[in-house]
Amino acid sequence: MSRRDDLAAALRSLDGASYGRYKSLSGRWDVSGIDLEVLRVQADPFAPPSRVRLTVDDTGIPADLVATPDRRRALAGFLLRGLRRALRGTPVHVDAGGPEVLERSAGVVDAGGAVTVEVGVPFPGPKRRVLGKEAATLLGATLPDAARTALSWSSVDQDAARAFVETVEDAVALRGALADRGLVAFVADGAVLPRRSGVDDRPMEAATPFGGPSSLAVTLETPNAGRVTGMGVPDGVTLIVGGGYHGKSTLLRALEAGVYDHVPGDGREQVVTRPDAVKLRAEDGRAVIHDDVSAFVAHLPSGEPTDDFSTTNASGSTSQAASTVEAVEAGADVLLIDEDTSATNMMIRDGRMQQLIATEPLVPFVERVRPLHAERGVSTVLVMGGSGDYLGVADTVVMMDAYRASDVTARAHEIAAAGPSRTVEHTGFPAVAPRVVDPASLDPTAKGKRRVTARGRDRLTFGEDDIDLTAVEQITDRSQVAGIGRALALLGDGVLDGTITLAEGLDLLDAELGRRGLEALLDGRSEDLARPRRHEVAAALNRLRSLRLRT
Ligand code: ADP
Ligand code: MG
Repeated sequence: MSRRDDLAAALRSLDGASYGRYKSLSGRWDVSGIDLEVLRVQADPFAPPSRVRLTVDDTGIPADLVATPDRRRALAGFLLRGLRRALRGTPVHVDAGGPEVLERSAGVVDAGGAVTVEVGVPFPGPKRRVLGKEAATLLGATLPDAARTALSWSSVDQDAARAFVETVEDAVALRGALADRGLVAFVADGAVLPRRSGVDDRPMEAATPFGGPSSLAVTLETPNAGRVTGMGVPDGVTLIVGGGYHGKSTLLRALEAGVYDHVPGDGREQVVTRPDAVKLRAEDGRAVIHDDVSAFVAHLPSGEPTDDFSTTNASGSTSQAASTVEAVEAGADVLLIDEDTSATNMMIRDGRMQQLIATEPLVPFVERVRPLHAERGVSTVLVMGGSGDYLGVADTVVMMDAYRASDVTARAHEIAAAGPSRTVEHTGFPAVAPRVVDPASLDPTAKGKRRVTARGRDRLTFGEDDIDLTAVEQITDRSQVAGIGRALALLGDGVLDGTITLAEGLDLLDAELGRRGLEALLDGRSEDLARPRRHEVAAALNRLRSLRLRT
């Protein structure tokens, strides 16, 4: 494709023309040496911004910084954040993301050091007319100038770039070391876990740095920072106990986030969790489609079978039971649960309640948590300050006291041994039949059009359906929701064939993403996407109310 010269002149000549004339700018331009492609032009001034791609080939980035996929992802994350800073105060949107460093379609660094970014540019158009001079400045100068300074090695903060890449690479190494060391998570000494507020993801100022007990201290090797010491959370069943407001939930949230790499300065750069760790919670009102929840629900008052349970409106306990078996089905090997967001009757059933209610249909998690590990290899980390029934089933008990962790396992086991508080009613973890999804029910067509639209962090429009993702807590941002939507469509369009199981389909999806990267989801389209995990894709699928199974 040939490139046209002088985008600014073209824009100035359109000044005052009807807004639709912006369309004539589609295609590639040479803007003082930068390759600028107008990918999509918005139809009117109020539509989502037009999309522009900028490619800088001769960035001068040293070869070692682009030598591995992790380094390229990290460097892209660094450069995108720099570009966003450079364009602050302009209407240009750069999808650089939050504290997590994800593979994003907005910025890609290739193995030769070339950088491609895609940004959203609202083309100015008061009274539905082309504002030629202003657009010429924005597209002909502001944007390419920012790209040149933010994406060229000679003008970036090179030490910061290296530190960024090394931080991400170290997190990958720490996470990769967990399984062999028999750990589900690692929290480095000195990590800053709390955030500024519930709506501000930056590290809390003047927080108490994390410190763990010597009994759980481990030292792991990293390629850049050398040896790092901190608390290793072992495989098996781990309880986080402690008084209210002592930092239990904050620790668990850091473990939830530990499946992702974090930017330097986040405080959680060296807090890592196994990649298949999944946060679970109660979510009353959610839909459940043909789940085998019999491990947690023995029978229902309606007489419905619990090994094939569907509802459009689950209760707290049945929703959490469903989410638990779904996470295991999708391949979770660590479950993260907080009493703050759990259904009490799903978690516990104490001795007195056993005496009063003889025919309780719910099998509390306390009876399944050990078999889950022994028989399925699924570990659990559970925040539980409110019931001692778990003391006897925990391998490790960590107490949070004024934000510092100590090991109270021995004392907890002593207390548990001193007297049975409840009677064991169930043992083992029953078999759960794998589900086979009908791929036709993953068709995003609505009124003859494909409709896959992220509506923010919490909602995905997929065909005729709106999927509520509020309770899927490890989703990072809107772009990851967009990635989830594309992944669902891909599952329905060729990956799931109506014979393989959902888990097998997720394996194929991972393989495809591994092979083709985000292009597997984009398929030639251009939009802001961030790479999702299989677990969030599965969680969205399980919440799609029109999902059907093959029986
Ligand atoms: P819990 O779950 O034990 O009740 P939280 O984890 O919700 O406690 O923490 C209670 C409060 O303490 C929160 O406002 C949190 O931001 C704050 N906090 C947590 N960890 C720290 C820390 N290390 N330093 C300072 N404040 C913290
Ligand atoms: Mg809490």
